[in-house]
Amino acid sequence: MKLIFLGPPGAGKGSIAQRITEQMNVVQISTGDLLRDAVKVGSELGNQAKKFMDTGALVPDTLVIDLLKARIAQPDCDEGFILDGFPRTLPQAEALSRAGVSIDKVINFIVSDALVLERLSGRRIHKTTGRIYNVNPGGAPQPPPDMPADDLFQRDDDKVEAIANRLVVYRTQTEPLIAYYQARGNLVDIIASNALDDIIRDVEKVIHDTPTPPAAP
Ligand code: AMP
Repeated sequence: MKLIFLGPPGAGKGSIAQRITEQMNVVQISTGDLLRDAVKVGSELGNQAKKFMDTGALVPDTLVIDLLKARIAQPDCDEGFILDGFPRTLPQAEALSRAGVSIDKVINFIVSDALVLERLSGRRIHKTTGRIYNVNPGGAPQPPPDMPADDLFQRDDDKVEAIANRLVVYRTQTEPLIAYYQARGNLVDIIASNALDDIIRDVEKVIHDTPTPPAAP
């Protein structure tokens, strides 16, 4: 099963992909995580990518396409994968198609800009476990009350100015992919403003829904 998760930043693609990989024999491939790892180890790619990532801009296609192709060539991808955050531009989608990767379903997660802002501006990451919390009033999950604020960090691109930029980048560069995959007939919309358990149920339904063959004439 090869899936693409499309949708704006903050739609919950990462959390949803994580839950699905716990139930199915597929790996989650987040180009954002791969790039953040490259930044952390200070590789040539990481150094080139960092300045784009910090402002919420996209990393140039050539860098991301090479990174993704190398990742999906690894043996753990043989049984299938979820692409979380790739493709984000038409050239990336075309490169995937040229590489002969046939995608079973493209799931498009729909969420309002207001909810994206609420989710991302409150997002804090636990330094040691990587667990994600939301510190905004009403955000979930809240960090435990006894957790020191210093144990959590905020991604540079989760600051309000960068979020606004990421949304503009999404609308101009990534949203055209909805029409691209619609034209190929394998795009399914899912409302991503519901509770995570409800979204997971909707995604499972889409994954297990095999198209009915056309009736005999
Ligand atoms: P994410 O964690 O998916 O929100 O990605 C964080 C940042 O990594 C993005 O804002 C981009 O700067 C960069 N990035 C991740 N995936 C891609 C991609 N497919 N194309 C270009 N840049 C990407």
